[in-house]
Amino acid sequence: MPDCLFCKIVEGIIPSKKVYDDDYCYAFRDINPQAPTHILVIPKTHIPSFAELNGSTEALVGHMTSVIAKIARDEGLTGGYRVVSNCGDDAGQTVHHLHFHILGGKPMGDRMA
Ligand code: 5GP
Ligand code: ZN
Repeated sequence: MPDCLFCKIVEGIIPSKKVYDDDYCYAFRDINPQAPTHILVIPKTHIPSFAELNGSTEALVGHMTSVIAKIARDEGLTGGYRVVSNCGDDAGQTVHHLHFHILGGKPMGDRMA
């Protein structure tokens, strides 16, 4: 098993504020929120980043997109929201386990996160 922060969050070794949970993915509140609502959605399997996605992960990622939309509805983000996946060093990815940020609750302006 990789020594991975988000794998440890999935396993409950590191505590997190759960927002959503199913057999395939887990969502929790970001520890350092950049918006009033800042949620991370991650696969339960360890995938390092967006760059590793391929045909074999299509069903999983398709499912995650539906989960993201459901979470946004449940969180009442009626004014809109941003979905971000930082991939690799140039994007500033700091945790190397695929994750989608859901950011909302305020106008996001020109900044990406
Ligand atoms: P990245 O910079 O890789 O796109 O995003 C990683 C995100 O994980 C950051 O927004 C950071 O605040 C969040 N994060 C890092 N460590 C923890 C943690 O232990 N718990 C939670 N809930 N979020 C974390
Ligand atoms: Zn992991």
